[in-house]
Amino acid sequence: MKNISLKWKLTVLYTVLMTIVVCMVLGILFSLSNQEILSTIQITLKERVSGSFDDIKYEDGKLDFDSDILELEDNIYLSVYDENGNFLYGKIPYGFNQKTAFSDGEIQDSYSDKVRFYVFDMTGFIEGYGMIYIRGITSVTEAERSFLITVQFAVFFLPLLVALAGILGYFMTKKAFEPVGRITETVREIYQKGDLSKRVGLESGRDELYQMAATFDLMLERVEQSIKREQQFTSDVSHELRTPVSVIRMQCEELLTESVSREETREGIEVIDKKIRYISRMISQLLLLSRADQGREKLVMESLDFSMLTEMAAEETREQARERNMTVVTEIEQGIDFYGDETLLIRMWMNLLNNAVVYGKEGGTIRVTLKKENGKIVGMVQDDGIGISQKDLPHIWERFYQADSSRTSSDSAGLGLSMVQWIVRVHGGTIDVESVPEKGSSFIFQFPK
Ligand code: ADP
Repeated sequence: MKNISLKWKLTVLYTVLMTIVVCMVLGILFSLSNQEILSTIQITLKERVSGSFDDIKYEDGKLDFDSDILELEDNIYLSVYDENGNFLYGKIPYGFNQKTAFSDGEIQDSYSDKVRFYVFDMTGFIEGYGMIYIRGITSVTEAERSFLITVQFAVFFLPLLVALAGILGYFMTKKAFEPVGRITETVREIYQKGDLSKRVGLESGRDELYQMAATFDLMLERVEQSIKREQQFTSDVSHELRTPVSVIRMQCEELLTESVSREETREGIEVIDKKIRYISRMISQLLLLSRADQGREKLVMESLDFSMLTEMAAEETREQARERNMTVVTEIEQGIDFYGDETLLIRMWMNLLNNAVVYGKEGGTIRVTLKKENGKIVGMVQDDGIGISQKDLPHIWERFYQADSSRTSSDSAGLGLSMVQWIVRVHGGTIDVESVPEKGSSFIFQFPK
C-alpha cells in the first residue's frame, strides 16, 4: 500500500465509495419501488372490480354484460359468478387455479404453475337478479418480471458506470495532482544540479495545489536571494578587508627595514592604527547588523530627551564640518521626548550627519531638523553636496553599497545607511531620501510619537 501512488489510492477509494453508495441507493430505490408497484397493482385491481358492477344489467329476464368486462385493461382479468360460484361471464388467465375460494372484499395471493396472482372478489346485488360475484385476477409475476428486467438492466449498467467513474476520476486526480509532480521534479532538479534558479512555474490561483506551487516558488525566490546575499556578503567583506589589510602589511614590511627613522616609524604606526580602527569599526557594525538580522540585538529602551540627543549629535558634527568649512544649522524643537535606545539613536544621527559632512559641499551648509508634525516626530538631515543619482537611490540602503567608489570616503564601507534603516525600523519608524545630483540630499525619518 505504501508504494502505491496517491493518485491510485484516491481513485480506488472513491470508486469503492461510489460503488457502495450507488448499490445502497439502488437497493433502497428497488425495494421501495417493488412495494409501490405491488400496492398500486392491488389498488387498481380493487378499483377495476368495484367499477365493473356498472357493466352488468338485468334486462328482459337475463343478465346483460358489457363487453368492457372482457377487456384486459391494466392486465386485469374480470369474471362474473352467481351466488353459488358458477361462472357466468368474463375471462380467466391461463394457469389460474379456478378452485380458489371466494373471499369477499379481500386481496388473496394465489400460486399456480410458478405464477403468482392477486385475486380480488366482490359481491354485489343486481336489481331483479340477485347476488353476483365479480372476481378480478391479475398476474403479479408479470408485473414483477418487468420490474426484474429494470433491475437486471441496472445491474448490468452499474459496473459500467463505476468503471467509467473510476477512469474519469483517475484522470481528474492525475490532473489535480500535476502541481505536486512538478514540485517534486523541481526539487529533484535543484538537488541534483544545485541550480536554485529553477521554479515550478505554474500559473497561480487555480486551486490549493496551484497556490501551493506558487508559494513554493516564492519560497525558492527567497532562498535564492538570501544565498546570493550571503555570497555577495562574503565577497564584499573580503573585498573591504583586502585594502586595509594590504596597507597594514606594506607598512609593517617598511617598518621592519633597518633604515627607518623615528618620524617614519611614527607615521607608519599611525597609518596602521587608522586601518585597524577602520577594520574594528567595520567588524562592530557587521556584528550589530548580524545580531539585528537574527533578532538577537537587545535594545535598551528608555524615555529620553530626543531634542537634547539631537543637539549633542549636531554639536559633535560641527567639529568635523569645520574641517571642510561647512556650517551646521539646527532647527530643533525643544522638549521632544521619545522612548528608544539612546546608543542606537545617537548612532543613527551620527551616520546621517557623517555622510552629510563627507558627501556635502565644501563650504556648504548642513541642516539638522527635529520637530513634531501630525502627531509624529520628524527628523531631517539636509546637505547641498554631490547628491545621489536616480540609478543609485534604491540601492543606498544595501549593505556595502557605495554609489560612486571614486567619491566615497576611504574610511567607510557602505554599512552606515543599512544600520540607519534598521535603527529607524526597530523604533517603529520609516526613512526616506530625496536627492538631486550636484544639488544635495535630504534624509527624512518619521517616528511614531
Ligand atoms: P558609506 O559608509 O559609504 O557612507 P552608507 O551606507 O552610509 O555608506 O552610504 C551608502 C552610499 O550612499 C554612500 O557610499 C554614498 O554613495 C551614498 N550617500 C549616503 N549619504 C549621502 C549623502 N548625504 N549625499 C550623497 N550620497 C550619499
